Amino acid sequence: MQKSKHFTRKELLQIIAPLGLGLVFYGCNEAAPKEIRELGKGEEKDTLGQVAEVLGQSGCVFVFPENKQFKGLNQPFNLRVPKTPKCIALCSSAVGIQNAIIYAKDQNLKVGIKSGGHSFENYSTLEDGLTINLSLFKSIEVNGDEATIESGCLLREVNDALISKGKILPAGSCGSVGIGGLTLGGGYGFFSRKYGLTCDHLIEAKMITAKGEQLIVNKDHELFKVLKGAGNGNFGVVYEFKFKIHPAPKLFRRWKLKSYKMTLERYKALLPEWIKLTQSLPESVFAAFVQNKKTAVFLITDFEQADLQGMIDRFAILCDKTYPMTQVPLAKALTYYYGVQESIPFKNSSAGYFNSYEDFEPFINQVIPIVLESKGLIYQINTLGGAIGNAVFREDSIYPHRDYALLTELQAYWEESEVGKELVQQNSKILTIIEEAGVSAQYVNYPSAEFKSPLEKYYGKENIPQLMALKKAYDESNLFARPQGLSNEEENKV
Ligand SMILES: Cc1cc2nc3c(=O)[nH]c(=O)nc-3n(C[C@H](O)[C@H](O)[C@H](O)COP(=O)(O)OP(=O)(O)OC[C@H]3O[C@@H](n4cnc5c(N)ncnc54)[C@H](O)[C@@H]3O)c2cc1C
Repeated sequence: MQKSKHFTRKELLQIIAPLGLGLVFYGCNEAAPKEIRELGKGEEKDTLGQVAEVLGQSGCVFVFPENKQFKGLNQPFNLRVPKTPKCIALCSSAVGIQNAIIYAKDQNLKVGIKSGGHSFENYSTLEDGLTINLSLFKSIEVNGDEATIESGCLLREVNDALISKGKILPAGSCGSVGIGGLTLGGGYGFFSRKYGLTCDHLIEAKMITAKGEQLIVNKDHELFKVLKGAGNGNFGVVYEFKFKIHPAPKLFRRWKLKSYKMTLERYKALLPEWIKLTQSLPESVFAAFVQNKKTAVFLITDFEQADLQGMIDRFAILCDKTYPMTQVPLAKALTYYYGVQESIPFKNSSAGYFNSYEDFEPFINQVIPIVLESKGLIYQINTLGGAIGNAVFREDSIYPHRDYALLTELQAYWEESEVGKELVQQNSKILTIIEEAGVSAQYVNYPSAEFKSPLEKYYGKENIPQLMALKKAYDESNLFARPQGLSNEEENKV
Protein backbone atom coordinates (compact mmCIF):
# COMPACT_ATOMS: atom_id res chain seq x y z
CA MET A 1 0.00 0.00 0.00
CA GLN A 2 1.46 3.32 -1.08
CA LYS A 3 1.34 6.52 0.89
CA SER A 4 0.35 9.72 -0.90
CA LYS A 5 3.09 11.71 0.77
CA HIS A 6 5.65 10.90 3.39
CA PHE A 7 5.53 13.77 5.83
CA THR A 8 8.63 14.29 7.85
CA ARG A 9 8.04 14.81 11.53
CA LYS A 10 8.98 18.48 11.07
CA GLU A 11 6.50 18.93 8.20
CA LEU A 12 3.70 17.39 10.20
CA LEU A 13 4.39 19.61 13.15
CA GLN A 14 4.27 22.63 10.85
CA ILE A 15 0.89 21.58 9.46
CA ILE A 16 -0.65 20.51 12.74
CA ALA A 17 0.55 23.40 14.88
CA PRO A 18 -1.93 25.97 13.45
CA LEU A 19 -4.76 23.51 14.14
CA GLY A 20 -3.74 23.42 17.77
CA LEU A 21 -4.13 19.66 17.62
CA GLY A 22 -3.00 18.10 20.82
CA LEU A 23 -5.33 15.25 21.67
CA VAL A 24 -5.50 11.84 20.13
CA PHE A 25 -7.90 9.20 21.32
CA TYR A 26 -7.67 6.51 18.69
CA GLY A 27 -5.14 5.57 16.13
CA CYS A 28 -4.63 2.60 13.87
CA ASN A 29 -1.80 0.54 12.69
CA GLU A 30 -0.33 1.10 9.25
CA ALA A 31 1.13 -2.37 9.11
CA ALA A 32 -2.22 -3.98 9.85
CA PRO A 33 -4.90 -1.56 8.68
CA LYS A 34 -7.65 -4.11 9.27
CA GLU A 35 -7.01 -3.90 12.99
CA ILE A 36 -8.05 -0.75 14.71
CA ARG A 37 -5.47 -0.31 17.40
CA GLU A 38 -6.73 1.62 20.38
CA LEU A 39 -4.08 3.96 21.69
CA GLY A 40 -5.84 4.68 24.92
CA LYS A 41 -9.41 5.93 25.00
CA GLY A 42 -9.73 8.98 27.17
CA GLU A 43 -6.00 9.22 27.46
CA GLU A 44 -4.64 12.68 26.73
CA LYS A 45 -1.65 12.87 24.45
CA ASP A 46 -1.15 16.55 24.39
CA THR A 47 2.13 17.10 22.66
CA LEU A 48 2.30 17.79 18.96
CA GLY A 49 5.11 15.28 18.70
CA GLN A 50 2.80 12.50 19.81
CA VAL A 51 0.19 13.49 17.25
CA ALA A 52 2.82 13.54 14.55
CA GLU A 53 3.92 10.10 15.66
CA VAL A 54 0.42 8.70 15.35
CA LEU A 55 -0.09 10.30 11.95
CA GLY A 56 3.26 8.97 10.87
CA GLN A 57 2.38 5.42 11.90
CA SER A 58 -1.23 5.19 10.83
CA GLY A 59 -1.81 8.22 8.59
CA CYS A 60 -4.93 9.05 10.58
CA VAL A 61 -6.03 10.48 13.91
CA PHE A 62 -9.60 10.44 15.16
CA VAL A 63 -10.97 13.56 16.79
CA PHE A 64 -14.20 13.45 18.80
CA PRO A 65 -16.70 16.13 19.88
CA GLU A 66 -15.24 16.18 23.38
CA ASN A 67 -11.80 17.12 22.03
CA LYS A 68 -11.07 20.81 21.93
CA GLN A 69 -9.76 20.56 18.34
CA PHE A 70 -13.08 19.19 17.08
CA LYS A 71 -14.80 22.54 16.71
CA GLY A 72 -12.09 24.05 14.51
CA LEU A 73 -11.76 20.96 12.32
CA ASN A 74 -15.53 20.64 11.97
CA GLN A 75 -16.21 24.27 11.10
CA PRO A 76 -17.85 24.54 7.67
CA PHE A 77 -17.37 27.63 5.48
CA ASN A 78 -21.14 28.09 5.65
CA LEU A 79 -22.16 28.71 9.26
CA ARG A 80 -25.86 28.47 8.28
CA VAL A 81 -25.67 24.68 8.09
CA PRO A 82 -23.68 23.35 11.06
CA LYS A 83 -23.52 19.58 11.45
CA THR A 84 -21.94 17.40 14.07
CA PRO A 85 -20.35 14.14 13.00
CA LYS A 86 -19.62 11.45 15.59
CA CYS A 87 -15.98 11.62 14.66
CA ILE A 88 -13.48 13.35 12.38
CA ALA A 89 -10.69 11.30 10.83
CA LEU A 90 -7.84 13.67 10.12
CA CYS A 91 -5.83 11.79 7.52
CA SER A 92 -2.37 12.36 6.11
CA SER A 93 -1.91 9.43 3.70
CA ALA A 94 -3.77 6.93 1.54
CA VAL A 95 -3.27 4.35 4.27
CA GLY A 96 -4.80 6.78 6.75
CA ILE A 97 -7.91 7.08 4.58
CA GLN A 98 -8.13 3.29 4.41
CA ASN A 99 -7.87 3.14 8.17
CA ALA A 100 -10.60 5.76 8.54
CA ILE A 101 -12.88 3.71 6.28
CA ILE A 102 -12.24 0.56 8.27
CA TYR A 103 -13.04 2.44 11.46
CA ALA A 104 -16.24 3.93 9.99
CA LYS A 105 -17.47 0.47 8.95
CA ASP A 106 -16.53 -0.96 12.29
CA GLN A 107 -18.54 1.74 14.04
CA ASN A 108 -21.35 1.63 11.48
CA LEU A 109 -20.87 5.27 10.51
CA LYS A 110 -21.63 6.85 7.13
CA VAL A 111 -18.75 8.82 5.65
CA GLY A 112 -18.54 12.45 4.55
CA ILE A 113 -15.49 13.70 2.64
CA LYS A 114 -14.12 17.18 3.27
CA SER A 115 -11.46 18.95 1.22
CA GLY A 116 -11.95 22.73 1.42
CA GLY A 117 -15.29 22.60 3.29
CA HIS A 118 -17.00 25.12 0.97
CA SER A 119 -20.08 23.08 0.07
CA PHE A 120 -23.02 25.53 0.06
CA GLU A 121 -25.04 22.97 2.07
CA ASN A 122 -22.14 21.53 4.08
CA TYR A 123 -22.48 18.20 2.25
CA SER A 124 -18.92 17.29 3.23
CA THR A 125 -20.12 16.60 6.77
CA LEU A 126 -22.82 14.10 7.73
CA GLU A 127 -24.76 14.50 10.95
CA ASP A 128 -23.68 11.61 13.23
CA GLY A 129 -21.34 10.30 10.54
CA LEU A 130 -17.58 10.23 10.19
CA THR A 131 -15.82 13.03 8.29
CA ILE A 132 -12.67 12.17 6.38
CA ASN A 133 -10.83 15.48 6.65
CA LEU A 134 -8.26 15.95 3.87
CA SER A 135 -6.87 19.29 5.01
CA LEU A 136 -3.40 17.77 5.53
CA PHE A 137 -3.20 16.73 1.86
CA LYS A 138 -1.31 19.83 0.82
CA SER A 139 1.36 18.76 -1.65
CA ILE A 140 1.61 20.53 -5.04
CA GLU A 141 4.21 19.44 -7.58
CA VAL A 142 4.68 21.09 -10.96
CA ASN A 143 6.35 19.07 -13.66
CA GLY A 144 6.41 20.73 -17.08
CA ASP A 145 2.84 20.96 -18.35
CA GLU A 146 1.46 18.82 -15.53
CA ALA A 147 0.74 19.48 -11.87
CA THR A 148 0.06 16.92 -9.15
CA ILE A 149 -2.14 18.49 -6.52
CA GLU A 150 -3.47 16.89 -3.34
CA SER A 151 -7.14 17.30 -2.48
CA GLY A 152 -6.75 19.50 0.59
CA CYS A 153 -5.17 22.35 -1.38
CA LEU A 154 -7.15 25.57 -1.56
CA LEU A 155 -7.37 27.57 -4.78
CA ARG A 156 -5.17 30.37 -3.44
CA GLU A 157 -2.48 27.78 -2.63
CA VAL A 158 -2.81 26.29 -6.12
CA ASN A 159 -2.52 29.75 -7.70
CA ASP A 160 0.51 30.67 -5.58
CA ALA A 161 2.35 27.45 -6.40
CA LEU A 162 1.57 27.43 -10.13
CA ILE A 163 1.84 31.11 -11.04
CA SER A 164 5.26 31.31 -9.38
CA LYS A 165 6.29 28.68 -11.95
CA GLY A 166 4.62 30.52 -14.84
CA LYS A 167 1.59 28.18 -14.99
CA ILE A 168 -2.14 28.20 -14.34
CA LEU A 169 -4.85 25.63 -13.74
CA PRO A 170 -8.24 26.97 -14.87
CA ALA A 171 -10.34 26.95 -11.70
CA GLY A 172 -12.78 29.05 -9.67
CA SER A 173 -12.24 32.51 -8.26
CA CYS A 174 -12.67 32.14 -4.47
CA GLY A 175 -9.28 31.65 -2.79
CA SER A 176 -10.45 29.36 0.00
CA VAL A 177 -12.44 26.86 -2.11
CA GLY A 178 -10.87 23.37 -2.08
CA ILE A 179 -9.51 21.85 -5.28
CA GLY A 180 -11.16 18.53 -4.26
CA GLY A 181 -14.82 19.55 -4.35
CA LEU A 182 -14.33 22.07 -7.15
CA THR A 183 -12.77 19.59 -9.59
CA LEU A 184 -15.14 16.71 -8.91
CA GLY A 185 -18.20 18.86 -9.65
CA GLY A 186 -16.76 20.68 -12.71
CA GLY A 187 -15.04 23.94 -11.76
CA TYR A 188 -15.35 27.11 -13.84
CA GLY A 189 -13.87 30.59 -13.69
CA PHE A 190 -11.94 33.26 -15.58
CA PHE A 191 -10.07 30.79 -17.82
CA SER A 192 -12.79 28.22 -18.60
CA ARG A 193 -14.05 29.77 -21.83
CA LYS A 194 -10.56 29.50 -23.25
CA TYR A 195 -9.41 26.17 -21.75
CA GLY A 196 -12.44 24.33 -20.34
CA LEU A 197 -13.49 23.36 -16.82
CA THR A 198 -11.08 22.32 -14.07
CA CYS A 199 -12.25 18.71 -14.45
CA ASP A 200 -11.40 18.82 -18.17
CA HIS A 201 -7.75 19.14 -17.14
CA LEU A 202 -7.72 15.93 -15.14
CA ILE A 203 -5.19 13.34 -16.32
CA GLU A 204 -5.31 11.01 -13.34
CA ALA A 205 -6.87 10.77 -9.89
CA LYS A 206 -5.86 8.61 -6.94
CA MET A 207 -8.67 7.49 -4.69
CA ILE A 208 -9.78 5.06 -1.99
CA THR A 209 -13.10 3.30 -2.55
CA ALA A 210 -15.72 2.22 -0.04
CA LYS A 211 -14.09 -1.22 -0.02
CA GLY A 212 -10.84 0.43 1.01
CA GLU A 213 -9.21 -0.26 -2.36
CA GLN A 214 -6.71 2.19 -3.74
CA LEU A 215 -7.46 3.09 -7.36
CA ILE A 216 -5.49 5.01 -9.93
CA VAL A 217 -8.15 6.41 -12.22
CA ASN A 218 -7.05 7.58 -15.65
CA LYS A 219 -8.66 7.61 -19.13
CA ASP A 220 -8.77 3.80 -19.24
CA HIS A 221 -10.78 3.50 -16.03
CA GLU A 222 -14.58 3.44 -15.97
CA LEU A 223 -14.68 6.00 -13.15
CA PHE A 224 -12.62 8.58 -15.07
CA LYS A 225 -15.59 10.13 -16.86
CA VAL A 226 -17.83 10.26 -13.80
CA LEU A 227 -15.24 11.84 -11.52
CA LYS A 228 -15.49 14.80 -13.90
CA GLY A 229 -18.81 16.26 -12.84
CA ALA A 230 -20.29 13.62 -10.51
CA GLY A 231 -17.38 12.72 -8.24
CA ASN A 232 -18.37 14.75 -5.17
CA GLY A 233 -18.85 12.34 -2.27
CA ASN A 234 -20.32 9.57 -4.44
CA PHE A 235 -17.76 6.87 -5.28
CA GLY A 236 -14.77 7.27 -3.01
CA VAL A 237 -12.19 9.57 -1.49
CA VAL A 238 -10.02 11.23 -4.13
CA TYR A 239 -6.81 12.31 -2.44
CA GLU A 240 -4.63 13.34 -5.39
CA PHE A 241 -5.20 14.84 -8.84
CA LYS A 242 -2.83 15.08 -11.79
CA PHE A 243 -3.79 17.97 -14.09
CA LYS A 244 -2.71 19.34 -17.41
CA ILE A 245 -1.75 23.00 -16.86
CA HIS A 246 -1.24 26.04 -19.13
CA PRO A 247 1.26 28.87 -19.40
CA ALA A 248 0.18 31.73 -17.14
CA PRO A 249 -0.63 35.01 -18.84
CA LYS A 250 1.38 37.94 -17.49
CA LEU A 251 -1.44 40.47 -17.24
CA PHE A 252 -5.10 40.48 -16.35
CA ARG A 253 -7.45 43.29 -17.40
CA ARG A 254 -10.76 44.28 -15.88
CA TRP A 255 -13.59 46.59 -16.87
CA LYS A 256 -16.39 47.51 -14.48
CA LEU A 257 -19.61 49.36 -15.24
CA LYS A 258 -22.51 50.19 -12.96
CA SER A 259 -26.14 51.18 -13.21
CA TYR A 260 -28.00 52.59 -10.23
CA LYS A 261 -31.67 52.85 -9.30
CA MET A 262 -32.49 49.84 -11.40
CA THR A 263 -36.17 49.11 -12.01
CA LEU A 264 -37.78 46.11 -13.64
CA GLU A 265 -38.22 48.11 -16.85
CA ARG A 266 -34.62 49.23 -16.92
CA TYR A 267 -33.47 45.73 -16.16
CA LYS A 268 -35.50 44.40 -19.08
CA ALA A 269 -33.89 46.97 -21.35
CA LEU A 270 -30.30 46.32 -20.18
CA LEU A 271 -30.26 42.56 -19.84
CA PRO A 272 -30.93 41.71 -23.53
CA GLU A 273 -28.11 44.08 -24.54
CA TRP A 274 -25.78 42.56 -21.98
CA ILE A 275 -26.53 39.03 -23.10
CA LYS A 276 -26.03 40.06 -26.73
CA LEU A 277 -22.61 41.44 -25.76
CA THR A 278 -21.61 38.23 -23.97
CA GLN A 279 -22.48 36.22 -27.07
CA SER A 280 -19.69 37.78 -29.11
CA LEU A 281 -16.89 37.77 -26.54
CA PRO A 282 -13.51 36.20 -27.35
CA GLU A 283 -12.71 33.06 -25.35
CA SER A 284 -10.12 34.80 -23.17
CA VAL A 285 -12.90 36.96 -21.76
CA PHE A 286 -15.12 36.22 -18.77
CA ALA A 287 -18.11 38.41 -17.95
CA ALA A 288 -20.52 38.61 -15.05
CA PHE A 289 -23.64 40.60 -14.32
CA VAL A 290 -24.31 41.15 -10.62
CA GLN A 291 -27.54 42.65 -9.34
CA ASN A 292 -27.52 43.72 -5.71
CA LYS A 293 -30.85 45.32 -4.82
CA LYS A 294 -31.18 48.35 -7.14
CA THR A 295 -27.56 48.41 -8.30
CA ALA A 296 -26.34 46.45 -11.31
CA VAL A 297 -22.63 45.78 -11.82
CA PHE A 298 -21.18 44.54 -15.11
CA LEU A 299 -17.76 42.94 -14.93
CA ILE A 300 -15.56 41.96 -17.87
CA THR A 301 -12.10 40.37 -17.56
CA ASP A 302 -9.54 39.38 -20.15
CA PHE A 303 -6.09 37.79 -20.08
CA GLU A 304 -5.07 37.97 -23.75
CA GLN A 305 -5.25 41.63 -24.78
CA ALA A 306 -8.44 41.03 -26.77
CA ASP A 307 -9.81 44.02 -28.66
CA LEU A 308 -12.85 44.86 -26.53
CA GLN A 309 -12.86 48.61 -26.10
CA GLY A 310 -15.33 49.43 -28.90
CA MET A 311 -17.82 46.85 -27.66
CA ILE A 312 -17.52 48.05 -24.07
CA ASP A 313 -17.87 51.72 -25.08
CA ARG A 314 -21.11 50.93 -26.89
CA PHE A 315 -22.51 49.13 -23.84
CA ALA A 316 -21.26 51.86 -21.49
CA ILE A 317 -23.70 54.33 -23.07
CA LEU A 318 -26.51 52.34 -21.44
CA CYS A 319 -24.89 52.39 -17.97
CA ASP A 320 -24.53 55.13 -15.36
CA LYS A 321 -20.86 54.76 -14.52
CA THR A 322 -17.81 53.28 -16.24
CA TYR A 323 -14.69 52.71 -14.15
CA PRO A 324 -11.27 53.06 -15.79
CA MET A 325 -9.94 49.75 -17.12
CA THR A 326 -7.35 48.19 -14.81
CA GLN A 327 -4.45 46.01 -15.91
CA VAL A 328 -2.34 44.27 -13.27
CA PRO A 329 -0.06 41.21 -13.02
CA LEU A 330 -2.10 37.99 -12.94
CA ALA A 331 -1.12 36.84 -9.43
CA LYS A 332 -2.23 40.15 -7.94
CA ALA A 333 -5.41 40.38 -10.02
CA LEU A 334 -6.65 36.96 -8.89
CA THR A 335 -6.43 37.96 -5.23
CA TYR A 336 -9.06 40.69 -5.86
CA TYR A 337 -11.63 37.92 -6.31
CA TYR A 338 -10.60 35.67 -3.42
CA GLY A 339 -13.53 36.93 -1.32
CA VAL A 340 -14.06 36.40 2.40
CA GLN A 341 -11.68 33.76 3.72
CA GLU A 342 -13.38 33.15 7.08
CA SER A 343 -16.56 31.14 7.66
CA ILE A 344 -19.81 33.10 7.41
CA PRO A 345 -23.53 32.28 7.31
CA PHE A 346 -24.92 32.40 3.78
CA LYS A 347 -27.44 30.92 1.37
CA ASN A 348 -26.16 30.60 -2.18
CA SER A 349 -27.51 28.37 -4.89
CA SER A 350 -27.45 27.64 -8.56
CA ALA A 351 -30.37 29.40 -10.28
CA GLY A 352 -30.28 27.75 -13.69
CA TYR A 353 -28.29 27.54 -16.91
CA PHE A 354 -29.42 29.60 -19.93
CA ASN A 355 -28.47 30.65 -23.44
CA SER A 356 -30.40 33.72 -24.50
CA TYR A 357 -32.56 36.50 -23.08
CA GLU A 358 -35.66 34.60 -24.26
CA ASP A 359 -34.79 31.87 -21.72
CA PHE A 360 -35.19 34.42 -18.90
CA GLU A 361 -38.50 35.83 -20.11
CA PRO A 362 -40.82 33.21 -18.52
CA PHE A 363 -39.80 34.30 -15.01
CA ILE A 364 -38.11 37.66 -15.19
CA ASN A 365 -41.19 39.70 -14.22
CA GLN A 366 -41.45 37.71 -11.00
CA VAL A 367 -37.80 37.25 -10.05
CA ILE A 368 -36.36 40.71 -10.59
CA PRO A 369 -38.85 42.52 -8.28
CA ILE A 370 -37.89 40.13 -5.46
CA VAL A 371 -34.19 40.89 -5.94
CA LEU A 372 -34.89 44.63 -6.19
CA GLU A 373 -36.69 44.58 -2.84
CA SER A 374 -34.42 42.23 -0.88
CA LYS A 375 -31.44 43.90 0.74
CA GLY A 376 -28.56 41.43 0.70
CA LEU A 377 -29.85 39.21 -2.09
CA ILE A 378 -27.55 39.02 -5.10
CA TYR A 379 -28.53 37.69 -8.52
CA GLN A 380 -25.53 36.88 -10.71
CA ILE A 381 -25.19 35.78 -14.32
CA ASN A 382 -21.81 34.31 -15.34
CA THR A 383 -20.54 33.50 -18.82
CA LEU A 384 -19.71 29.94 -19.81
CA GLY A 385 -19.48 28.74 -23.42
CA GLY A 386 -16.28 28.68 -25.46
CA ALA A 387 -14.06 25.67 -24.76
CA ILE A 388 -16.51 24.29 -22.18
CA GLY A 389 -18.49 23.03 -25.18
CA ASN A 390 -15.45 21.29 -26.73
CA ALA A 391 -16.42 17.91 -28.22
CA VAL A 392 -13.52 16.01 -26.63
CA PHE A 393 -14.29 17.37 -23.16
CA ARG A 394 -17.93 16.47 -23.71
CA GLU A 395 -17.07 12.91 -24.67
CA ASP A 396 -14.59 12.46 -21.80
CA SER A 397 -16.75 13.61 -18.89
CA ILE A 398 -20.20 13.23 -17.40
CA TYR A 399 -20.59 17.00 -16.75
CA PRO A 400 -23.87 17.51 -18.63
CA HIS A 401 -24.36 21.26 -19.07
CA ARG A 402 -21.91 22.05 -21.86
CA ASP A 403 -24.47 23.53 -24.24
CA TYR A 404 -25.22 26.49 -22.00
CA ALA A 405 -23.64 29.91 -22.37
CA LEU A 406 -24.74 31.35 -19.01
CA LEU A 407 -24.92 30.12 -15.42
CA THR A 408 -26.96 32.07 -12.89
CA GLU A 409 -26.57 31.99 -9.13
CA LEU A 410 -28.28 33.48 -6.10
CA GLN A 411 -26.20 34.67 -3.19
CA ALA A 412 -27.07 36.06 0.24
CA TYR A 413 -24.74 36.78 3.17
CA TRP A 414 -25.77 38.25 6.52
CA GLU A 415 -24.72 38.98 10.05
CA GLU A 416 -28.07 38.87 11.88
CA SER A 417 -29.98 35.60 11.86
CA GLU A 418 -33.37 37.33 11.41
CA VAL A 419 -32.11 38.91 8.20
CA GLY A 420 -30.78 35.51 7.19
CA LYS A 421 -34.16 33.84 7.65
CA GLU A 422 -35.77 36.40 5.37
CA LEU A 423 -33.10 35.99 2.70
CA VAL A 424 -33.39 32.19 2.78
CA GLN A 425 -37.14 32.59 2.18
CA GLN A 426 -36.52 34.93 -0.76
CA ASN A 427 -34.04 32.46 -2.23
CA SER A 428 -36.60 29.70 -1.88
CA LYS A 429 -39.32 31.81 -3.50
CA ILE A 430 -37.11 32.50 -6.52
CA LEU A 431 -36.06 28.86 -6.89
CA THR A 432 -39.73 27.84 -6.89
CA ILE A 433 -40.55 30.42 -9.58
CA ILE A 434 -37.66 29.26 -11.73
CA GLU A 435 -38.58 25.61 -11.24
CA GLU A 436 -42.19 26.29 -12.20
CA ALA A 437 -40.94 28.09 -15.32
CA GLY A 438 -39.39 24.77 -16.37
CA VAL A 439 -35.72 25.45 -15.62
CA SER A 440 -34.21 22.05 -14.98
CA ALA A 441 -30.41 22.25 -15.26
CA GLN A 442 -28.43 23.20 -12.12
CA TYR A 443 -24.74 23.21 -11.19
CA VAL A 444 -23.86 20.47 -8.69
CA ASN A 445 -21.19 22.67 -7.12
CA TYR A 446 -23.88 25.26 -6.33
CA PRO A 447 -26.36 22.89 -4.64
CA SER A 448 -29.55 23.81 -2.86
CA ALA A 449 -31.22 21.41 -0.43
CA GLU A 450 -34.52 22.56 -1.90
CA PHE A 451 -34.10 21.39 -5.48
CA LYS A 452 -36.66 18.78 -6.48
CA SER A 453 -35.20 15.75 -8.35
CA PRO A 454 -31.71 17.16 -7.70
CA LEU A 455 -29.79 14.33 -9.35
CA GLU A 456 -31.47 14.91 -12.69
CA LYS A 457 -30.80 18.62 -12.40
CA TYR A 458 -27.13 18.17 -11.51
CA TYR A 459 -26.16 15.21 -13.66
CA GLY A 460 -28.74 15.09 -16.49
CA LYS A 461 -31.53 12.48 -16.58
CA GLU A 462 -29.80 10.51 -19.33
CA ASN A 463 -26.72 9.91 -17.15
CA ILE A 464 -28.50 8.58 -14.07
CA PRO A 465 -28.56 4.86 -15.04
CA GLN A 466 -24.80 4.83 -15.67
CA LEU A 467 -24.11 6.69 -12.44
CA MET A 468 -26.35 4.34 -10.44
CA ALA A 469 -24.63 1.28 -11.91
CA LEU A 470 -21.22 2.63 -10.90
CA LYS A 471 -22.48 3.60 -7.44
CA LYS A 472 -23.61 0.01 -6.98
CA ALA A 473 -20.30 -1.35 -8.22
CA TYR A 474 -18.08 0.87 -6.06
CA ASP A 475 -20.22 1.70 -3.03
CA GLU A 476 -22.99 -0.86 -2.73
CA SER A 477 -23.31 -0.37 1.02
CA ASN A 478 -23.80 3.39 0.57
CA LEU A 479 -20.89 4.27 2.81
CA PHE A 480 -20.65 7.69 1.17
CA ALA A 481 -24.14 8.90 1.87
CA ARG A 482 -24.20 12.65 1.49
CA PRO A 483 -27.59 14.36 1.02
CA GLN A 484 -28.49 14.70 -2.68
CA GLY A 485 -25.81 12.13 -3.49
CA LEU A 486 -26.23 8.91 -5.47
CA SER A 487 -27.82 6.31 -3.24
CA ASN A 488 -28.53 2.58 -3.40
CA GLU A 489 -30.82 2.74 -0.43
CA GLU A 490 -34.44 2.19 -1.39
CA GLU A 491 -35.86 5.32 0.26
CA ASN A 492 -33.20 7.60 -1.28
CA LYS A 493 -33.11 6.03 -4.74
CA VAL A 494 -33.46 8.38 -7.70
C1 LIG B 1 -17.48 31.62 -1.79
C2 LIG B 1 -17.55 30.55 -2.84
C3 LIG B 1 -17.10 30.82 -4.13
C4 LIG B 1 -17.15 29.84 -5.13
N1 LIG B 1 -16.69 30.11 -6.39
C5 LIG B 1 -16.74 29.15 -7.34
C6 LIG B 1 -16.25 29.39 -8.66
O1 LIG B 1 -15.76 30.48 -8.97
N2 LIG B 1 -16.33 28.39 -9.58
C7 LIG B 1 -16.85 27.17 -9.27
O2 LIG B 1 -16.88 26.29 -10.14
N3 LIG B 1 -17.32 26.90 -8.03
C8 LIG B 1 -17.27 27.86 -7.07
N4 LIG B 1 -17.75 27.60 -5.82
C9 LIG B 1 -18.39 26.31 -5.55
C10 LIG B 1 -17.35 25.26 -5.23
O3 LIG B 1 -16.85 24.73 -6.44
C11 LIG B 1 -18.00 24.13 -4.42
O4 LIG B 1 -18.49 24.66 -3.22
C12 LIG B 1 -17.01 23.00 -4.16
O5 LIG B 1 -17.71 21.78 -4.05
C13 LIG B 1 -16.20 23.26 -2.92
O6 LIG B 1 -15.20 22.31 -2.77
P1 LIG B 1 -14.53 22.12 -1.33
O7 LIG B 1 -13.54 21.04 -1.45
O8 LIG B 1 -14.11 23.45 -0.81
O9 LIG B 1 -15.80 21.72 -0.49
P2 LIG B 1 -16.18 20.48 0.44
O10 LIG B 1 -17.31 21.01 1.26
O11 LIG B 1 -15.02 19.93 1.14
O12 LIG B 1 -16.73 19.41 -0.60
C14 LIG B 1 -17.81 19.67 -1.46
C15 LIG B 1 -18.42 18.35 -1.94
O13 LIG B 1 -17.45 17.55 -2.61
C16 LIG B 1 -17.19 16.33 -1.91
N5 LIG B 1 -15.74 16.14 -1.87
C17 LIG B 1 -14.85 17.07 -1.45
N6 LIG B 1 -13.61 16.59 -1.57
C18 LIG B 1 -13.72 15.35 -2.07
C19 LIG B 1 -12.75 14.36 -2.38
N7 LIG B 1 -11.48 14.60 -2.22
N8 LIG B 1 -13.18 13.15 -2.86
C20 LIG B 1 -14.52 12.93 -3.05
N9 LIG B 1 -15.46 13.85 -2.75
C21 LIG B 1 -15.07 15.05 -2.26
C22 LIG B 1 -17.78 16.54 -0.54
O14 LIG B 1 -18.16 15.34 0.05
C23 LIG B 1 -18.94 17.48 -0.80
O15 LIG B 1 -20.06 16.75 -1.26
C24 LIG B 1 -17.69 28.57 -4.81
C25 LIG B 1 -18.12 28.29 -3.51
C26 LIG B 1 -18.05 29.27 -2.53
C27 LIG B 1 -18.54 28.95 -1.15
